[in-house]
Amino acid sequence: MLDATPTTLVERQALRVNPAKTCQPIGAMYSALGIHGCLPHSHGSQGCCSYHRSHLTRHFREPIMAATSSFTEGTAVFGGGANLRQALKTIYKLYDPPVVAITTTCLSETIGDDIPTIIREATESGVIPNGKTVIHANTPSYVGCHITGWSNMTASMVKYLSERSGESRNQVNLIPGYVEPSDTRELKQMLATWGIDAVTFPDTSDVVDTPQTGHFQMYPQGGTTVEALKTTGDSLATIALGPEASTQAAIALDAKCQVPAHILDLPIGVAATDRLVQTLMDVTGTQPTDEIVNARGRLVDVMTDMQAYLYEKRVAIAGDPDQVVPLVEMLVTCGAKPVYVITGAESKYFRDRTQAILGETVPEAVIRDNADLFYLHQLMKQEPVDLLISNVYGKYIARAEDVPFVRYGWPILDRVGHSYFPTLGYGGSLHLLCTIINTLLDRKDRDDPDEVFELVL
Ligand code: SF4
Repeated sequence: MLDATPTTLVERQALRVNPAKTCQPIGAMYSALGIHGCLPHSHGSQGCCSYHRSHLTRHFREPIMAATSSFTEGTAVFGGGANLRQALKTIYKLYDPPVVAITTTCLSETIGDDIPTIIREATESGVIPNGKTVIHANTPSYVGCHITGWSNMTASMVKYLSERSGESRNQVNLIPGYVEPSDTRELKQMLATWGIDAVTFPDTSDVVDTPQTGHFQMYPQGGTTVEALKTTGDSLATIALGPEASTQAAIALDAKCQVPAHILDLPIGVAATDRLVQTLMDVTGTQPTDEIVNARGRLVDVMTDMQAYLYEKRVAIAGDPDQVVPLVEMLVTCGAKPVYVITGAESKYFRDRTQAILGETVPEAVIRDNADLFYLHQLMKQEPVDLLISNVYGKYIARAEDVPFVRYGWPILDRVGHSYFPTLGYGGSLHLLCTIINTLLDRKDRDDPDEVFELVL
């Protein structure tokens, strides 16, 4: 399908081919789903909302509920205020959600709808009933990407809801980043095992991976409650995982309620997870349990045992900055060579951290933010790799170049399991590492001549 991709690189300024990112409101909608009882509302045309919902539905294989202001041509002229007021009336009449989280779209941002004023007037006029919570985030999709949207909505939770009562609580805030529900569950379990009380927000576990019970629940049991979000201003500290996704909310919480922020890489691999564990030790003054220490040991054991199969393997990686940076670190620790590393987002964090990791170990590595998969494919055609790691869109490149392929990141639309098996923490990293190694071993089995085709490693 992509066999005709040309090898010659041409510098492009105003054209993306196969972008390695999606639009802002998708990320904001995903973040909003992490509030308990929240109905996301897309302030724009039905097409935007359908796209956002369907992308989330396809990735998580769960029905994603969201409302829309249903813009028409007239709205583009007269503004979307009347549509939003009517939408809120309908929402409370039909669905009665405890929380509504409004995301804007390209069109409503271009019109310039003043959402805070519309929310205030709707509250004063009784359109928004007493006791109901409505928040919003500005998410124009001609700026940033899905990570920006996630970041904006998560920061809005702080701006609208966090409070400082004056009495501090022996708890930490955990912002897990733009990750799978399984990752959030893994992190929560780690803290629970450790005995650390935490407010994890947004928490999409048990929202987009709900069990089949035979009964439809409009508002699943998961998600961070508004009451818990209000207490985040009294916490000891905020642990923000994934700088691009979580920094904004952590800094907003520090500015609003003076809760110190610790901004860390996503805990992928031993080194990044160690940094998280060390930070938790410093913040709480406690030690991790044997269970956590043993999980670390198992990860180190597999890294040591299987290092020969990753050593010097040339890897191409595309994905979100927060995932790619620690993934590169983990692969380098295991002896692999990430030679092409790209992200669709514009990210100084990505550039600086990836360069710091690869500068001495893989000095020939091509590191590029604000790039696309077409560019990555061209690099791979110039000098092949042994493995490609990217979201689902990399499958076309993997097929064209006959390269082993690990699906990782957002979105994955053609496989199951990504939202159920974590890739964060010691346990999650072990799962991710085994997936990568087994993919390489599958290829080895396919290609080995009979005389070295082994039953036992
Ligand atoms: S890019 Fe803009 S117009 Fe397109 S779906 Fe996203 S918000 Fe809507």
